[in-house]
Amino acid sequence: MKILVQKFGGTSVANLECMKKVREKVLAGLARGNKMVVVLSARSGETNRLLALADEWSNTPDKAECDVLVSTGEQVSIALFTMLLKDAGVRARSLLGWQIPMTTDDDYGRARITDIDSAKLRAALEEYDVLVVAGFQGCTEDGRITTLGRGGSDTSAVALAAALGSVECEIYTDVDGVYTTDPNICSTARKMDRVAYEEMLEMASMGAKVLHIRSVEFAKKYKVPVRVRSTFTDDPGTLVTQEDSSMEALLVSGIAYDKDQARVTLHEVPDVPGIAAAVFGPLSEKGVLVDMIVQNTSLDGHTDITFTVSRKDLNQTLAIMDEVARKIGASEVVHDVNVAKVSAIGVGMRNHSGVAARAFAALTQEGINILMISTSEIKITILIQEKYVELAVRILHDTFGLDWDIN
Ligand code: ASP
Ligand code: MG
Repeated sequence: MKILVQKFGGTSVANLECMKKVREKVLAGLARGNKMVVVLSARSGETNRLLALADEWSNTPDKAECDVLVSTGEQVSIALFTMLLKDAGVRARSLLGWQIPMTTDDDYGRARITDIDSAKLRAALEEYDVLVVAGFQGCTEDGRITTLGRGGSDTSAVALAAALGSVECEIYTDVDGVYTTDPNICSTARKMDRVAYEEMLEMASMGAKVLHIRSVEFAKKYKVPVRVRSTFTDDPGTLVTQEDSSMEALLVSGIAYDKDQARVTLHEVPDVPGIAAAVFGPLSEKGVLVDMIVQNTSLDGHTDITFTVSRKDLNQTLAIMDEVARKIGASEVVHDVNVAKVSAIGVGMRNHSGVAARAFAALTQEGINILMISTSEIKITILIQEKYVELAVRILHDTFGLDWDIN
């Protein structure tokens, strides 16, 4: 049995007209001889509307009940879409998470998939040609409804593709693929034909919001090729797949940026063992994610520690740091919210040196001051003043020749 998994996001199922476009894609998949599993999101705006309702009803909405509430968005989509398929004479039925079942842990609001009953799905595919599955939701072992976190329908789709051995998982959205950078700020941004899982992970975590990050982790782990493409065109989109030598030939594949950064510095921290733990322990206890970290070399037994957090976590971070600073004897805590980070990403960096130097030289030429730097095997990240982000993205995009069509 040849099975194809297709997933359609909120803008693709927003109204009847869009859903008819979706039906065309599904019919085309059937015509190619596939049995189909179609995963749908809630119609655009619906999940936000439901979450706002929860906040209106309760100051501290119960997490488990929130999942019962927000999962209804997808239920509406799959029922309506299955009606459309049946009107076209297709043997189809809808399936909610608990009907599969798509089993998860009980971390409501961001549950993880632990098991999918693929035998049951295969049996259903003997009887039906299309199974229309509610994305974003699952259920615990004792039958309570869960959701997988915002954007989680991508993960539902990739998990189903892995469980069913789908040749490819097609993720349909309102853009025609993954771009070398944000086309809204760089007019020469180019759609990529292929991108490696690891590059995509870095891009997603930098806020290239095309795919749910967990779906990419899943795809990488189970080697599911994922094709990001548009519901509204016939473009083949971008294939997210395993790295190969043609990808390595490129130094840099994409430039990502993130304006959701705030910088915090503790001055004159005693340079003794246990200080970093004293600073970052209390932050992680409160669930604050720390991004970049830099510690200077010590002068007179003292050093500075600088790190960045998401802007929404800044106030909480500063409150925690005031206490930490007093405890460890730091002289002061300063912060800056007008910062942003820009990253150059590419698996090709593994085998080439000098990429960082080229990036720094290009930025220097434009007079952009670099506040912090961090590097990994396939990524160089710099923190700069927010007002230079667009310029920095364009410079790096140009420096690494991303606007040339090398294919
Ligand atoms: N409807 C959910 C959300 O808006 C899940 C998804 O669309 O992927 O986050
Ligand atoms: Mg999405």
